[in-house]
Amino acid sequence: MIEPKDNYAVTADPMNEKKSKKIAPLGVTPMLAQYLEIKREHIGSLLFYRMGDFYELFFEDAIEAAHALDITLTKRGKHKNQDIPMCGVPFHAADTYLGRLIRKGFKVAICEQIEDPADARKRGGKSVVKRAVVRVITPGTVTEETLLEARRNNFLASVVEIQESVGMAWVDVSTGSFQTEALSLNQLGGALARVAPTEILVPDRVLETRNGCGDFASQLTDCRDRLTSIPSSRFDSANSEKRLAELYGVNSLDSYGSFSRAELAAAGALVDYLELTQLGKIPRLLPPKQWKNSETLEVDNATRINLELVRTVAGERKGSLLDIMDRTVTGGGSRLLATRLNAPPTDPNIIKERLESVDYFFESERQRLCIRNTLKSVPDIERSLSRLSVDRAGPRDLIAIRNALLATASIRAQLNKLDGKLTGLPTELEKNVTFLGCHDELVMLLTRALIDEPPMFAREGGFIKSGYDMELDRLRSLRDESRNLIVSLQQRYAEETGINSIKIKHNNVLGYFVEMTSMHANKMTEYPTFIHRQTLANATRFTTLELTELERDLGQAAAKSLALEQECFAHLSNEVINSYEAIFNAGTAISEIDLFSGLAELAIERRYVRPTVTGGLEFEIIDGRHPVVEALSTDGERFVSNNCEMKVANRLWLLTGPNMAGKSTFLRQNALITLMAQMGSFVPATSARIGVIDRLFSRVGAADDLARGRSTFMVEMVETAAILNQATARSLVILDEIGRGTATFDGLSIAWAAIEHLHEINGCRTLFATHYHELTSLQSKLDSLVCYTMKIKEWQEEIVFMHELVKGTADRSYGIHVAKIAGLPTEVVDRAKIILEVLEKGEKANSLRSLADDLPLFKDTLKDSNQGKELAESEVDKLLAQIQPDDLSPREALELIYRLKDMVKEFGLG
Ligand code: ADP
Ligand code: MG
Repeated sequence: MIEPKDNYAVTADPMNEKKSKKIAPLGVTPMLAQYLEIKREHIGSLLFYRMGDFYELFFEDAIEAAHALDITLTKRGKHKNQDIPMCGVPFHAADTYLGRLIRKGFKVAICEQIEDPADARKRGGKSVVKRAVVRVITPGTVTEETLLEARRNNFLASVVEIQESVGMAWVDVSTGSFQTEALSLNQLGGALARVAPTEILVPDRVLETRNGCGDFASQLTDCRDRLTSIPSSRFDSANSEKRLAELYGVNSLDSYGSFSRAELAAAGALVDYLELTQLGKIPRLLPPKQWKNSETLEVDNATRINLELVRTVAGERKGSLLDIMDRTVTGGGSRLLATRLNAPPTDPNIIKERLESVDYFFESERQRLCIRNTLKSVPDIERSLSRLSVDRAGPRDLIAIRNALLATASIRAQLNKLDGKLTGLPTELEKNVTFLGCHDELVMLLTRALIDEPPMFAREGGFIKSGYDMELDRLRSLRDESRNLIVSLQQRYAEETGINSIKIKHNNVLGYFVEMTSMHANKMTEYPTFIHRQTLANATRFTTLELTELERDLGQAAAKSLALEQECFAHLSNEVINSYEAIFNAGTAISEIDLFSGLAELAIERRYVRPTVTGGLEFEIIDGRHPVVEALSTDGERFVSNNCEMKVANRLWLLTGPNMAGKSTFLRQNALITLMAQMGSFVPATSARIGVIDRLFSRVGAADDLARGRSTFMVEMVETAAILNQATARSLVILDEIGRGTATFDGLSIAWAAIEHLHEINGCRTLFATHYHELTSLQSKLDSLVCYTMKIKEWQEEIVFMHELVKGTADRSYGIHVAKIAGLPTEVVDRAKIILEVLEKGEKANSLRSLADDLPLFKDTLKDSNQGKELAESEVDKLLAQIQPDDLSPREALELIYRLKDMVKEFGLG
């Protein structure tokens, strides 16, 4: 491995900008020395080292990047007698490559040339162009449109544990939101799952020490690939408080909330890191907001994954609840939907107000269609604003903001128009109308100043409209005039010299020049104004004093006008920044309006109904459906709706029924309906009334947690323990087949005890699906437990799943039947039937132990079923042939019937 650290002693020709073969005095070229020095400061990042039109990578960086990007790895020069690996990406296409690296979790330090190479040459000799890292791009700190997913927040988080309490802080640099949360250790995993940061800062000692921070570190296992360790000293609550107060220009942070020491330390480290990676340019951050757990429906990590809220178990957005609910048309709206779904409120009033806004759009089709049509054209205000705040914006961001503000005005006007049926706006929408604000002046200014389709970067120029700035107009006409004069020169020279083919051309080396064929060039000695510049194979180039002067004028005018345009751009940006808060609020309002109207659209499309969320403890879903299963069903099969009417008196539902009957679907649909209702969405049911839920627990699915080295059963027990320890009367608990991962009696006993605990101690609303039929006997003991089962129709040896929930218990499990449908070999299915029969008999006689003895061998039954069958049939036939019915006494006849039956049974013909 080649390490670009310490010890610069280099022997052979290392990289050198002029590709000179000279060996530098120290054995290392100045450029390699510069590279190594910069690299030493950025060990954890890939160093993009700018050389002309390329970013080059060297050493290990080159190897890693070439592999990650699938680009060619070459070499350049030698270091310590070894080739230096190198790869490069063109400057103009860097964004694409950066995007790929960032998405793979790399950090990239961008090192630019910070002086004109000509200046370096002037210093002479071995001077290298000055270079410096201008920015470190990490997954959590990107702001570029090209590197961000429009419909997802990109959170950078920071976590620390101080004296047994955990603090977490997180920002979305691309929108400016900044939040903190005080947590206990066992809440951390859930909180990280909720926020889903793309990068997480942790104190380095957490990752170093094996003891001491063990529990804390283990909470981070799920996000191993997203951790960035930074020096523990940066997590200092006292320093943090000071620097945050400084950042917001306040004396104390008290007005923003009462933050714990751990929260402060985490927030401070975060700001620190931003400053470090953005090299001093901290993006505009809103004041930190404290996240209160008690205000949101808490969902632990396992439940979030199992219920496939924002991602499926396979890790895709498609097929998740979020995906099928998303009808938003703006990036901000989509991000807000995810935020709400990840943390629905628990205050029935807030929920009611949000539902009212959705209802408003549900009722008023005209406004909904109109406003959504306008929303479609609204650019991402939040992200353009944040780029402006870090000086990374271009003219397009200004136009984006202008267009968004234009749409804002139109949406406000539409909302203010009363629709026939409706009187007045719901409070939430009223609030949003105020937030939309009025930006006419700024819109006018931007419209007056900017062309509609400006270039990406201000440095390209040509984006200021004529008529906006007199001086700019003057410079531009000067420039145009010079251009015209140059064009007319060609005409004049042709006339003067009589050479019709004479051309005035331009290239980057010579600038403007006069070109003619070499044949004509010979007679040019007659014209002393023509100064010879270059002779090519079949053309000769000249310049003239006039041309040089015009070119100079032209160059000066162009440079001046470009500089002036930058000034205009800076001025306009400043005007926008001055209205930062008002514009930001407008952006927030647009996201909310998009969310509300999108949810209304969804409700209409999918026949959802407005739920009622109360302060009580009831849970009454009538004709509930599973939002995702229903939406994804392609074969046109109708989803069977089911009621779930739980009251305090029947708050524990025990569900039995065969596999494939629809138990799990029923459990999940009720959890999803709860989440949807509390986040302020209509729900798939004909009516829904839910006493607000504070925590949603689930124990479903049975995936091994190999990453943590836990078996299925261990995972199951850990999750069950969490539920039994934490569920309250306000919680909703879903338990799907617990005890499956262990021996029958172990599992049954655990499930049994868990039900008793949930019933007697937790008192939560519980849906409990099980394959242990024995548990149904609990209904005589536990008052609030009721048994339900899924309806099955038996029809000609076949069973049909009706997916319909009915009171009662399942009498059979039909497991073998399902196995048959699944295509198990007939021999195995037949054999299983025999075993089942013996088992059931044995269970009644309490003699399970002799099971193996009682069973005939598999190979014997095989013989039976293949060759034995004919034999058996002939035996029976033989016996039947012998019978003389008229000679039999009634007793003999009866005995014979018994014998025949036994034979049939023995040979398995029954
Ligand atoms: P169980 O948990 O009882 O084994 P599942 O809930 O996994 O059963 O459902 C089995 C299958 O039946 C799934 O493919 C599911 O899509 C379908 N299903 C379940 N409930 C319904 C329903 N109410 N209407 C229509 N199909 C359903
Ligand atoms: Mg199931």
